[in-house]
Amino acid sequence: MSQPSLTAAELTELIAGLNRLARNLWWTWNQEAQEIFHELSPRGWQNLYHNAVAVMHEVSDYELRVRLQDREFAARVREALRLFNEYLNEKNTWGAKNAPALLREPVAYFSAEFGFHETLPIAAGGLGILAGDHAKSASDLGLGFVGISLFYREGYFQQTINSDNWQTEYYTHVNPRNVPVEPVLDAKGEPLVCSVKIGTSQVYFHAWRVNVGRNPVYLLDTNRPENEQHYRDLTLRVYGGDSVTRIMQEMVLGVGGVRLLRALGVQPSTFHMNEGHAAFLTLELVREKMAEGKTFAQAAAGTKTECIFTTHTPVEAGHDRFSSDLINYAAQKFETQLKVTHVEFMALGRVDPKNDAEPFCMTVLALKLSRAANGVSELHGQVSREMWHRLYPEKSLNEVPIGHITNGIHLLGWMKGPLRRFWKRKLAGNGGNGGQSLPSNASESTVFWQRKPGVAVEAEINSPEFWQRLADPGFISDEELWAMRYRLRRELIEFSRRRLLLQGQTLRQGDFIAFDHLLNPDALTIGFARRFATYKRAPLIFQQFENIVKVCNDKQHPVQFIFAGKAHPRDDEGKKFIQHIIHLSKHSDLKGHLVFLENYDVHVARQMVSGCDVWLNNPRRPLEASGTSGMKAGCHGCLNLSILDGWWREGYDGTNGFAIGDDSHPGNVEEQDRLDSANLYRALTEEVIPCYFNRDAHGLPRQWIAKIRRAMITLVPQFNTWRMVQEYAQKYYLTK
Ligand SMILES: *Cc1c(COP(=O)(O)O)cnc(C)c1O
Repeated sequence: MSQPSLTAAELTELIAGLNRLARNLWWTWNQEAQEIFHELSPRGWQNLYHNAVAVMHEVSDYELRVRLQDREFAARVREALRLFNEYLNEKNTWGAKNAPALLREPVAYFSAEFGFHETLPIAAGGLGILAGDHAKSASDLGLGFVGISLFYREGYFQQTINSDNWQTEYYTHVNPRNVPVEPVLDAKGEPLVCSVKIGTSQVYFHAWRVNVGRNPVYLLDTNRPENEQHYRDLTLRVYGGDSVTRIMQEMVLGVGGVRLLRALGVQPSTFHMNEGHAAFLTLELVREKMAEGKTFAQAAAGTKTECIFTTHTPVEAGHDRFSSDLINYAAQKFETQLKVTHVEFMALGRVDPKNDAEPFCMTVLALKLSRAANGVSELHGQVSREMWHRLYPEKSLNEVPIGHITNGIHLLGWMKGPLRRFWKRKLAGNGGNGGQSLPSNASESTVFWQRKPGVAVEAEINSPEFWQRLADPGFISDEELWAMRYRLRRELIEFSRRRLLLQGQTLRQGDFIAFDHLLNPDALTIGFARRFATYKRAPLIFQQFENIVKVCNDKQHPVQFIFAGKAHPRDDEGKKFIQHIIHLSKHSDLKGHLVFLENYDVHVARQMVSGCDVWLNNPRRPLEASGTSGMKAGCHGCLNLSILDGWWREGYDGTNGFAIGDDSHPGNVEEQDRLDSANLYRALTEEVIPCYFNRDAHGLPRQWIAKIRRAMITLVPQFNTWRMVQEYAQKYYLTK
């Protein structure tokens, strides 16, 4: 018997639902939703870089109506929309139970960058990725949260490598119509416009809303017809331009962000500054209070109770500093409104207020006007207290009011598709429902993600109990884990070959045989991908060049390296690192065993952290405040080989990966580089390679797989933003 077709009204409802879904980033961490957009246009999904909004433009309304007459497809759409609506409407959240006050007066989280997804390239690196993951987990937890950032219509730069192996930058236009953002409108349906006085000009901006699950993140955009062209271009690029652009961007972000929230009627209980870029928001809060009749001292004290600050780096250049002239130019209106002299104003950003030569530091401003501050790992908290001790001369080092909360990642967002399916199948087949078999009508998508009634998917996947099951070979066998590792590695190698072909970096251009043999699917695959800041020392491993060549060319125990990363456009030293590595990949005995993938971004990161066997990290300790890419490796069974810096110093327990050196570092940089290079080589050849190639009679590396189990059990439930955001709430948001 044929089934009745969908009515016009049902079709309209499903299509409206799909359009709503495409404009909420929830789909980026939900496999079922992603698969629908993928299936709607498989090539489009790939060519449009996994952009659900663009896919919805690609597929006509007529086609949608036709396709939805496929009962099976329509049922999956309905199921995805049901899960989506259930998520949005859930009342019984962690936030509702533990932080109900924040639902009325949310946390306003200011960040110059947010890394949500490859379709919205408005992040430069780890800071932005962390902000995006923070926002996603705030939503999962049901925490009252609103984000503020800038809409960069050329985003962060795209990287290509020229024939001299030198990084060149180009920019693509981000069309708001084609990305998951919606215009913020006023009561009349017109764009809501606010302004900030910068120098002598009034700079106008409107805003775009990104729906991050349950919460909004607003992106401010100065591309307004009222503005002169150079102000229209103020928000063109992430950290674009010189220090003049920079200070003006930060005025828009900090001051403009507060004004937008007021215009929207949002009354945050806490303003959270993610790095010093947004610290001008404190000036706006002081100004507001003075306009209500408070003195400067009263207003500053009041502001201090409203703000918290997270510092992200011990690297000096990571702290914005502006000259007295620049401050005088950009913020002169504030000096008048706050009724302070220029010298008094400068004092807000100086460690030593009496030092006329000291520039204005945004970190100092943020520290002076926050009720609490933190670093992003235990060691970084300690280093930050040393770094800013001068600001608190009356306190002992341990009393410096900077604590720490160790970073995390948004697990579901980072987990690769096949892996989500892998766990789903695994748990379904194993009667994970307390031994009971699953109801026969459970659809595939509900099997894994609704293990226990009343427990949110996000709570379960981040819980220690979930990952503890990996200890049980009856739950998952060594064979299954190894098969999963092989699958993920193959996917990475095929992804790399395709990318390298497009890059024109194959061994011989157009030589498909060489291309297909580039990288070995059976080799121990070591990944290194991150910003090419010099302190991260990307080429450190090649200091022992002859030795590494021998390691790679061992036919019995093959080893290979995949590198990726962008250098800051003005960082020639970082670009030289890239040049050196690409040169080695083409013109040395490492050819075929070493590749460099261009244009590192969230998508490349996901391929690499899932497909590599080892994630290499060798920063100059203690400069890696936390690091997060190694956390992304954990749930995929990729093991860390890292200096004991940042998060790994807390994560490593002797059984769950590999350490380079010990919990100390020499004061002298040359000495440190020499020592770390030797320790890296030793760990690689004495621990990593023997363990990986130690196969039993069944061909399995039992010890290696045991380490994978330990990594999953110990690292995944700890280094995630589900835990991290709860810590922020309990330690800082709720302790006003
Ligand atoms: C995770 C991530 C980072 C941060 O990685 P680190 O280990 O902190 O260097 C930077 N860029 C991208 C694209 C990422 O996904």
